[in-house]
Amino acid sequence: MVIKPKVRGFICTNAHPLGCKKNVGNQIAYVKSQLHNTQQAQNTEGPKNVLVIGSSTGYGLASRITAAFGYAANTLGVCFEKAPSQRKTGTAGWYNTGAFHEQAHRDGLYASTINGDAFSDEIKAEAIAAIKENLGKVDLVIYSLASPRRTDPDTGDVYKSTLKPVGQAYTTKTYDTDKDLVHEIALEPATDDEIAQTVKVMGGEDWERWLVQLNEAGVLSENCKTTAYTYIGKELTWPIYGQATIGLAKEDLDRAASAIIEKLSGINAQANVSSLKALVTQASSAIPVMPLYISLIYKVMKEEGTHEGCIEQIVGLFTNCLYSQDPTLDDMKRFRMDDKETNDATQAKIKVLWDQVTQDTFHELSDYKGYNTEFLNLFGFAVQDVDYEADVDTLVQWR
Ligand code: NAD
Repeated sequence: MVIKPKVRGFICTNAHPLGCKKNVGNQIAYVKSQLHNTQQAQNTEGPKNVLVIGSSTGYGLASRITAAFGYAANTLGVCFEKAPSQRKTGTAGWYNTGAFHEQAHRDGLYASTINGDAFSDEIKAEAIAAIKENLGKVDLVIYSLASPRRTDPDTGDVYKSTLKPVGQAYTTKTYDTDKDLVHEIALEPATDDEIAQTVKVMGGEDWERWLVQLNEAGVLSENCKTTAYTYIGKELTWPIYGQATIGLAKEDLDRAASAIIEKLSGINAQANVSSLKALVTQASSAIPVMPLYISLIYKVMKEEGTHEGCIEQIVGLFTNCLYSQDPTLDDMKRFRMDDKETNDATQAKIKVLWDQVTQDTFHELSDYKGYNTEFLNLFGFAVQDVDYEADVDTLVQWR
């Protein structure tokens, strides 16, 4: 089948297996070039057996690749992806995972992935059983879920997350990737119930639940580490992110980090929230304002020579924070990898562009091409050295 992208709103509804494989290969090559070779990384302190929750795309995939190919770690992934059928391609995360397995197995690494709802206790039990059988214990747990809904395993109630301001209405600019249109949007403030539901989905409750259940099952190593990812941002994004529903949910991660440290004190677990920079992923494309903001920061940061994607951020997180004797921490003991974006000088340049940008000036003021290419890349399209006219087997299975 010859596959062309089908973009609908902020999502592409199909994916290209070879483009996804190439993306994974490029990230692996980057990690190897940065962390030398797996043999050398094996001799330095680093993860050995890793559980990645949200392992198939974005920051979670980059974390899995860094652990495996930077430190020769065995990895168990958990994700929620669709397998290909005769009629439809698989999701990008499906193809990424297949490509990851292939490369990891070739390098002699254990790599297995559970495809199902990470919020459920059934998938937690499946992960525990897989760890017991294949790894014994894990010494690092990465929590990188981004989801619009969560079924509470205790009650069966379904909670939905909302992307709305808190306290007052907010009118701002946004960019519609599908229509290539900069336009105004007016966002009504969230109700108390919408805020509470968003905290239920994207807050720290499930991270904490995972760690408690893993610990009770005896599958966490002494001194094990865990981190969950957040975005803090600055004034330009605070009304829709930092101080909005999603930001309140993310604040709950700080509470969960303290709770995990206390509940897992018997094994001296270390739990930190990691603040990462904004970049194009399936999750961020869905947040109003972010596509416009990101296309402007790409412009500024590429000019400054400070631009980074998922894999650069995560290699930095592992080397400067997770496995550093002297990590970059803020006053909430969060790992900070976002300074290149949120420092005042860079933000000031973005603010100038933000105030000027309109539909007419968007292509000139922003890194429009970079944003769009990276958006297509998420789904395996517009990747260099992939022949998009060639017939491709879409029915890739995980091995
Ligand atoms: P993403 O959409 O690329 O990845 C989400 C992952 O979660 C995928 O592996 C998906 O399969 C998995 N997932 C979703 N629902 C699931 C479920 N019910 N069960 C199992 N797996 C499920 O998102 P991302 O942007 O990499 O975000 C990961 C984390 O990083 C999020 O917490 C996000 O807030 C944070 N973050 C993102 C940015 C950004 O700009 N993209 C910046 C800072 C922090």
